Amino acid sequence: MSKKIIATTSLAGCFGCHMSFLDIDERILKLVELVEFDKSPINDIKVFTRPVDIGIIEGGCCNSENIEVLKSFRENCKVLVSLGECAIMGGLPALRNGIPIEECLREAYLDGPTVSENKEQVLPNDPELPMLLDKVFPCHEIVKVDYFLPGCAPDADLIWNALVALVTGNEMELPYEVVKFD
Ligand code: SF4
Repeated sequence: MSKKIIATTSLAGCFGCHMSFLDIDERILKLVELVEFDKSPINDIKVFTRPVDIGIIEGGCCNSENIEVLKSFRENCKVLVSLGECAIMGGLPALRNGIPIEECLREAYLDGPTVSENKEQVLPNDPELPMLLDKVFPCHEIVKVDYFLPGCAPDADLIWNALVALVTGNEMELPYEVVKFD
């Protein structure tokens, strides 16, 4: 069986889902027999170098760069997986969705109790910075997503079993306990 090609990225997430991925421990040796990694923070390859079988997305979309990266994953990956609550529902970053963006920026950079080094009272405005979106969006509201792996972070066994199923063409099983919203 030829190896499947995998790519991963972290959008508006905390990298906890990637950490959980690495929690498959010694099974990572088995994983490299089954797959090769393309663009991913795991190997630090920053651009797609070939067509990818499985794209794994951590985090939702909070800025213009997230949208761009997510769309490039959809274009380059046959199958797209939302990994974790941030990718599936926006997660913790989406807690700002009920607050106007101006208020969020003022609290973070001007008025918040931990702001001490902004005497000029400027908001970050470098043109290189990606534009913040007014809301944090789950990935499937931007592009079509094929599979969803819930959890914060999803359990390493769940990630492993799902990956093996995808790579071997078997049906992915989601145990009842992991499909929950609390
Ligand atoms: Fe981090 Fe949890 Fe979001 Fe994963 S789902 S990126 S672990 S906050």
